[in-house]
Amino acid sequence: MAKATTTIRQVLNHRPEHGAWFAANQALFNRVAAFYFEVIQAHERVLELGNQEAMRALETLTHTTEKNPHPVMPLAEVAEEIPALFRRAAIHAALGSARSFQAHLEKWRKRKEKTLAKGKTFTERPPVPPRSWNKSATLYAGQWKERTQSSMVLKVWTGTCWSWLQVRITGRELPPYAETGSPQLVRHGKAWQLHTPVGKQFSSPPKVEQQLTANAHTKICAVDLNMGEHLACCTIQTVEGSILATRFISGGTAISGFRKQRLGRVARNRNKTGLIAKGEQDNVALWRTIRDRDEQLAHQVSRRIVQFAREHEASILVFEHLGNLKPEKGRYSRRGNSKRAFWMKGRIFRYATYKAWNERIITCRVNPKNTSRECACCGAQVVRYAQGQSEEGYTPGTPLVLCPACHMRGHADRNASIKIGQRLTTRYSKPSQEKPHAPLPGAERSVKAEGVAASQDAKGEEPPSMAQARRHGSSNGHGTAQRGKRRRMGTPSPSIPTQLRLPRE
Ligand SMILES: [Zn+2]
Repeated sequence: MAKATTTIRQVLNHRPEHGAWFAANQALFNRVAAFYFEVIQAHERVLELGNQEAMRALETLTHTTEKNPHPVMPLAEVAEEIPALFRRAAIHAALGSARSFQAHLEKWRKRKEKTLAKGKTFTERPPVPPRSWNKSATLYAGQWKERTQSSMVLKVWTGTCWSWLQVRITGRELPPYAETGSPQLVRHGKAWQLHTPVGKQFSSPPKVEQQLTANAHTKICAVDLNMGEHLACCTIQTVEGSILATRFISGGTAISGFRKQRLGRVARNRNKTGLIAKGEQDNVALWRTIRDRDEQLAHQVSRRIVQFAREHEASILVFEHLGNLKPEKGRYSRRGNSKRAFWMKGRIFRYATYKAWNERIITCRVNPKNTSRECACCGAQVVRYAQGQSEEGYTPGTPLVLCPACHMRGHADRNASIKIGQRLTTRYSKPSQEKPHAPLPGAERSVKAEGVAASQDAKGEEPPSMAQARRHGSSNGHGTAQRGKRRRMGTPSPSIPTQLRLPRE
């Protein structure tokens, strides 16, 4: 069985003065969590234990009881009268942060070792432990009771004492019979929300390899993420390479203009005020609008990708690895904008991954090398140009492609998206000859593809689908179903058009 978790967000309606109580409760939670983080740093071996044992060890180190009258680092010195379940929730939060910090530190050490071993200088700074704690308080059972769809009773620290408090809940209802986790009390601007994780159990989907080799009806949704107007281009493909549908998801120009304008304002404000106070965030409101808009768009785009995959019953989502950020030159607003556009791609991938998993769709990634430079039909190098430009050379970022070898014309993003899907299917189509993670599937492919193209040229005929594939970008609208084609290498039967071939057993 596999499990997926979604978070149900509900708004708390409370008296205005209770907002201050929630804030005090959260501050206390963070103080206790920060204390436990320090305890863990002082006793690093705690991290080698599982969560339950680590919890017990940390309580022995800090909690005063009759059997344990003198703990090493008493919690009572930081805060008194902490309810057991409040303490455990804080320990859990501290353990999570400590494990994450530890993992980052470990990776940094490895990178350092590797670089020094090569005789290079290593300049990357080590990760730092959290300087400030701003976690939302988790309410374990015992900290809340009498929950209904419209109200619940919470136990919060008011700043002076612990108090039970009834609040009203509005917003989305919890699904009945769902497996709910401990809710969190989350600050949202001036308001407070209740976030409840809701679990869903389903049978685990078969592995990618199994789906692609054992089931000829498997459909994959290949996604090319971009930084231009089309943030994503998705194609639905079958295992043997037919293209069933395409969708472009736009909005890149609008977000880029929005960000650029605000980054420009940040730069102008900074110019006016001169020095920026150290350790203090400037232009708080402007940064928040940029962040919120980016976040919102990433959720929107990822949701639409997953919806598209679900509509066409695709069971695998394929992206390419994102590569590294290529810094741009120019004004502050331009540099900042391109950096955020790059981060946006990472976010869309992450959000799409978990949203897809909730729909029982697996996500994987393929080598990005030359996905936009090679023709999806024959593997030759393509010409990339814009409308009205001469059709030669390769201008990165332009929308159209033309293949000089097979005369395929189309949209560059769509070509890349098809290519990404093909990378995944070729990875499993000939396991005996190709390693699963062959570093250069593209190179190997183009050699084979040329062979096939040559044999077809010699015959002077082409399957009917070729003509369709050539036009593949000229008429595709948003989400129109299109049939392109891809030759499966190593199954030569030139007289039979690809689409009529029987599914492979
Ligand atoms: Zn071609």
